[in-house]
Amino acid sequence: MMDVTTFFRDNIRRLTPYSTARDEYTGSIGIYLDANESPYDNGTNRYPDPRQRALKQELARIKGVAPEQIFAGNGSDEAIDLMFRIFCTPGVHNAVSIAPTYGMYQVAADINNVEMRQVQLNPDFGLDADRLLAATDADTRLVFICSPNNPTGNCFSPEAVLSVAQRFNGIVVVDEAYIDFADNPGFVAVLPQYPNLVILQTMSKAWGMAALRLGLAIADARIIEVMNRVKYPYNINAVTQAMALERIKDAAGPEVAEIKEQRQLLARELAQCPCVQKVYPSDANFLLVRVDNARALYTLLTDNGIIVRDRSRVQGCEGCLRITVGTPEQNQRVIQILKGV
Ligand SMILES: *Cc1c(COP(=O)(O)O)cnc(C)c1O
Repeated sequence: MMDVTTFFRDNIRRLTPYSTARDEYTGSIGIYLDANESPYDNGTNRYPDPRQRALKQELARIKGVAPEQIFAGNGSDEAIDLMFRIFCTPGVHNAVSIAPTYGMYQVAADINNVEMRQVQLNPDFGLDADRLLAATDADTRLVFICSPNNPTGNCFSPEAVLSVAQRFNGIVVVDEAYIDFADNPGFVAVLPQYPNLVILQTMSKAWGMAALRLGLAIADARIIEVMNRVKYPYNINAVTQAMALERIKDAAGPEVAEIKEQRQLLARELAQCPCVQKVYPSDANFLLVRVDNARALYTLLTDNGIIVRDRSRVQGCEGCLRITVGTPEQNQRVIQILKGV
């Protein structure tokens, strides 16, 4: 089995992290005169837990992994950026991603001065593992696969994804931001067999916590340990930790069933609109829809106060709008407008 520690940048492997006052003393009662905080309790005067222990306990429970396998970030974007900073030497190493896909991988690569090689999906948005691997070379450290993919909406075949993980000598990042809306459980369960997999998930979509900024990486504990060393010490603020913890404990589960039902209904109704050419199958909480005149429909919807995402200039998504599944009322409004075209 491959040794994932060989992929860390040398400076990262040598790094001595900043040690917070609360890293050194981890008891819970006492008089805290160690962190130069205000002593007056107003609910916000203390630094938050840099290791997010209570939150990770609950996250580990709902994800079915050990707390040591979870990194909590200020949105998934933090975890994406950390992948480049931990594994890629700027100007030396490169990364490979599918296309079309989520724009942040490219932006994070550009910020870190890492070459990003994009490999177009098949015309039906399927993943060709051989073509993806053919774009890698000895300096490729990261491969990004988003499944369910944004903006195409589909999951990739587990065989194709795992074949990449098996054959690639580097880290495979599988972004599962939308996995709660899919009918398959994703790749968390196979992590023990694929130590080079890093799975990204988020509390922003199905869990309805986009405002709190809480993204997760789930991976081999040795990778998570390094992510924790490199992150800003207090990257998850106290309000986010407390509110997320409460939501996870209270919620019977995210409101996924209704969204999936609405997705089906919206897809069926959209397919009947004369201006709609194709509604792509979706495992996510949005639909990619090919229409006759994307720009005109985008403007028409905007004029009616409905904002969707125009993806018509994205290679592979020509003529397409991406429509998030809303409440039943919101979806009816979209259908009403498009039926009139
Ligand atoms: C929305 C989304 C995320 C989540 O980003 P956060 O920073 O966690 O809100 C991650 N990946 C993809 C592909 C997304 O579409």
